[in-house]
Amino acid sequence: MKVTGPSPATDATAKVNRDALAHYAMDDKQDFVDVDRGLIAAFPHKLYNGDGDLIYDGALLDFAGDNVDAPPSVNPSMWRQAQLNKRMGALYEVVPGLYQVRFDAHLTIVDAPEGLIIIDATTSTELAAAGMDLFRKELVNDKPVVAVIYTHTHFDHYGGVKGVVDEADVVSGKVPIIAPGTIESFNKHAIGENVITGNEMSRRMAYTFQLLLPHCDCGMVTIGLSAGTAGMRAMFSYLAPTDGITKTGETRKLGGWTFEFLYAPDTEAPEEMHIWIPELKALTCGENANHSMHNIQTIRGARTRDARNFARYLDESIVRWGDQVEVHWGPHTWPVWDNENVIRFLEDQRDMYKYIYDQAPRHANQGLTPLEAAEIVELPDAIGKRWYNRYYHGGLHHNIRAVFHKELGFWDGDPATILPLLPDDNVRRHVALIGRDRLLSEGQKAIDAGDYRWAVQVLHHLVFADPDDMEARNLQADAYEQLGYQQEVPQYRGIFLTAALELRNGVITAGQVNTDNQDTILAMPVDLLFDFAGVHIIGEQAGDIDLRINFTFNDVNEQWTMWVKHGVFNARAGHAPGAQCTVAGHKAALAGLLLQPAQAAGIAKQAGVTVDGDIAAFETLASVTDTFDPHFNIVTP
Ligand SMILES: [Zn+2]
Repeated sequence: MKVTGPSPATDATAKVNRDALAHYAMDDKQDFVDVDRGLIAAFPHKLYNGDGDLIYDGALLDFAGDNVDAPPSVNPSMWRQAQLNKRMGALYEVVPGLYQVRFDAHLTIVDAPEGLIIIDATTSTELAAAGMDLFRKELVNDKPVVAVIYTHTHFDHYGGVKGVVDEADVVSGKVPIIAPGTIESFNKHAIGENVITGNEMSRRMAYTFQLLLPHCDCGMVTIGLSAGTAGMRAMFSYLAPTDGITKTGETRKLGGWTFEFLYAPDTEAPEEMHIWIPELKALTCGENANHSMHNIQTIRGARTRDARNFARYLDESIVRWGDQVEVHWGPHTWPVWDNENVIRFLEDQRDMYKYIYDQAPRHANQGLTPLEAAEIVELPDAIGKRWYNRYYHGGLHHNIRAVFHKELGFWDGDPATILPLLPDDNVRRHVALIGRDRLLSEGQKAIDAGDYRWAVQVLHHLVFADPDDMEARNLQADAYEQLGYQQEVPQYRGIFLTAALELRNGVITAGQVNTDNQDTILAMPVDLLFDFAGVHIIGEQAGDIDLRINFTFNDVNEQWTMWVKHGVFNARAGHAPGAQCTVAGHKAALAGLLLQPAQAAGIAKQAGVTVDGDIAAFETLASVTDTFDPHFNIVTP
């Protein structure tokens, strides 16, 4: 497919990006020292798996040259972060005994006297294994891995676990996997966050993580916390934890050293923890402290987080370990050394989240809507000019709106928005009222004046009223591109530039992330499997169906029953009388029956699957089971 666009930065955009320099502490170059500190050996620039798929590319951001100023099409703060992120892809010594292979999400290796402890296992099996190889070769270290620790429930922190440890050693109890929360809760959140609305999330991720954009100064520059992943084909793995941390102050002796935990749930992830290693005077606050403002609301979609908790647990960490800490490392970006710097870093990050948490409700209580508040809140300079508080993963604008959402729900308090017209109906009537030609010329006028936010609003009417109006689409794409070039927040840039790409070229069908792959489905707790099946039911067509099926999951030793009645899907543990069909077998096969009931006849013939009753019950289920299009429209109705 031949892709058209993007257009170069206009003079107006160049000026915005030039003027932005005045807002940043460009003279503070400490990060460029710290990002290289402790470098031992570079990782291979490109890595392929056995099938020849590129699973890692360390050259993605090479265009962001070391001493090159930001081009007119890139916000200078974002450009600087890209220059830092492109330097990773190497093995580093944080302090003697603590090492990191830094990728997108890092592999952290603690070299304790009696063995290695892995803290977060990066995104894929191949990357994790390659990282371990590099460590073992460079440090001439053949100690066994004696424990794995997950800091939180996000897949980029456990996806490579099978590359650092043998499943058999975990199952036998030889190597514990320690994680925050109960084992049940960790499993549920680790797998659940990407499943229920996975199709929508995947589509949004293509926008926010810039998966469809080329790496260049008119495309993807950085995703903020890293260079971004070129490794989406890489093998994702999951092993459930064997040991849960549910209380602050719990300790474990691993490899001869002490690991003390601070339980920090409902922060950057539903289950998260901070880890203190007294022998190294080293602390990690997981992903709650980064060289970036984080998301209170991820715009890829996930439940809203609690900004108050970020601040609370960062402060608790300062209280517990602040008098001793000498280094803070994270699973993304680079460490901070020396007590004074670490304390300042943690205090500034704490204050940044606390400010967001306080100011959003203050404005809400004054009667402002989320958008009104988001437009006016600025961080105080004392914390806002700190590079690690800039907007590389989260953004202040949507984080303020997120606190409103967390505290007040989705309604903004404006009566006109409680039961509004659908956007396409609304705009069609506006276009009829105002006229296409007038809107088009107003859009062009706004673009000529560099007023791109207004241009987007005006042209949105025309595109949603007539998605085939290519003149309006291309003009709106022009406006989106300039807006994208002006953003400091990589995800906003990604949204605007991808919107422009799809306005010009239609929906791009490459490069989507599949969040409900087979590994994920197999790792799902059974109750989540039924929840996931439930969100596929075409309610309006299922009203006359009266269906009940019993399930026996032999390998996990669970019995369940599900039924569809009055258009509603329900499930509960245990068998129930009156089922049209009872199926027994291993979880993989039964998950197939449940989620792909149209293939039931074939799946039922698999070894180890037994059917008691009428397998046609699954045909009935299939008749009301929806399929999700991974390439639905975003920039058109
Ligand atoms: Zn992460």
